[in-house]
Amino acid sequence: MTTDDLYQIDEEYRNSIATVDQQGKRIWVYPKKPTGNFHTWRIVVTTFLLGVLFTGPFIKIGGQPFLLLNIFERKFVVLGQAFWPQDFVLLAITLITFFVFIILFTVVFGRVWCGWMCPQTLFMEMVFRKIEYAIEGDAAAQRRLDKAPWDSEKLVKKVGKHFIFLLISLLIAHTVMAYLIGIEKTWSIIQHSPSENLAGFLGLIAFTGVFYGVYARFREQACIAVCPYGRLQGVLLIKDSIVVAYDWLRGEPRSHLKKKKTEVKTGDCIDCKLCVHVCPTGIDIRQGTQLECVNCTACIDACDEVMLKIGKPKGLIRFASYNSIKDGIQKIITPRVIGYSAVLVLLLGVLSFTLATRTDVETTMLKVPGTLYQRSTDGYITNLYNVEFINKTFESISLEVKIESPATATLERADGKNIIIPEEGMVKGIFFIRIPEADVTNARTAVKVGIYQQGKRIETLKVKFIGPVGRSTDLKR
Ligand code: SF4
Ligand code: SF4
Repeated sequence: MTTDDLYQIDEEYRNSIATVDQQGKRIWVYPKKPTGNFHTWRIVVTTFLLGVLFTGPFIKIGGQPFLLLNIFERKFVVLGQAFWPQDFVLLAITLITFFVFIILFTVVFGRVWCGWMCPQTLFMEMVFRKIEYAIEGDAAAQRRLDKAPWDSEKLVKKVGKHFIFLLISLLIAHTVMAYLIGIEKTWSIIQHSPSENLAGFLGLIAFTGVFYGVYARFREQACIAVCPYGRLQGVLLIKDSIVVAYDWLRGEPRSHLKKKKTEVKTGDCIDCKLCVHVCPTGIDIRQGTQLECVNCTACIDACDEVMLKIGKPKGLIRFASYNSIKDGIQKIITPRVIGYSAVLVLLLGVLSFTLATRTDVETTMLKVPGTLYQRSTDGYITNLYNVEFINKTFESISLEVKIESPATATLERADGKNIIIPEEGMVKGIFFIRIPEADVTNARTAVKVGIYQQGKRIETLKVKFIGPVGRSTDLKR
């Protein structure tokens, strides 16, 4: 039996999660305070990302927010550019492209997003947990404090910690609100009495409660039991994915230092369990890649420190794929990666085209429901249309509407006139198209209508024109 075989024997632990006991009760995780090179880099990355998150609502591009996701008014601003429900196709393509990118990224680099970029982990491990360490001490001290009777010291520490947790939750809630309704409206809610903006005030309270609940109590369960991305790992990861992994060929058979001094051949793992003690999701990475692992790298740092102390090379736990440990070859370009990359390139092409051809104005022109045509005494056939212009920009726009074809068709009320669409606004109206009866040779005639902005055609519409004679032609709007 090889070391690899020995390592693969018992996978029973996969039938339950490390933070729930046999009776189904939550096991509270007290991770040991992490230190080390990776942790230092995480501090740098976290500082940058949280800096961007908290300053984001204050950043304006061309007077517009850097990012606004106003789901209540269905208005979205990305990099100062407004997007409306009418941009649904664009939004759908963007989301699909993003998902394919995430899938590709996960197939290659595993769950590194979770440990290094996800706001849930950043706030939990790099903000709330650090406050906990500062007030209650490292894991052992926290355990002792939780078991200790309620005396003045415990009361001060617990109340102080939860008060700070609440304040930070409040700050996060205000920041989220600023991304949803804008910094100005959020500021207005802060400045005025709750009764003047009850919905906004209650929203802030609810957000604060949710964030406090998640960071004070729910914690790693959000990543283990709730996050859909976490659930997807089982199908996304392949044996060539680069994840935080334990080199079982080098580490096994594990044994304590004393045994290593005997003749028995052992691996590099001294079974000190430090990698388990620092894990914020309570798992033992030596059992193999697990759903709970958020790739936070705390176990790498812990093990590297141990290896240095016992004079062994670092990297017993490291970023590596299963196959690279087993066979010594790290493959990145796999058939799955090629397939996802091809789909991603295709989607990026479609997205770029959609963005490049996106217009500032969205026009719809539809026949008024229930109407046919009118025949006038001067020999014209008239059709009636509902017209709607939506200005997607932050400036008013002047438009002209012209008939492109057939040449004898005219547009009543609007032909050649300027129509002003206010910023972020909409103009609705009813237009008549007239065509001399002699030119209406089909029951349905295709009419092309051009929308012009500053003399440049920005949109062409095809509308149906119903006439009294002939058979229908194949017309599409
Ligand atoms: S196993 Fe290691 S990388 Fe994964 S969550 Fe635990 S400490 Fe972080
Ligand atoms: S920290 Fe390293 S040496 Fe210690 S138990 Fe974990 S893998 Fe083994």
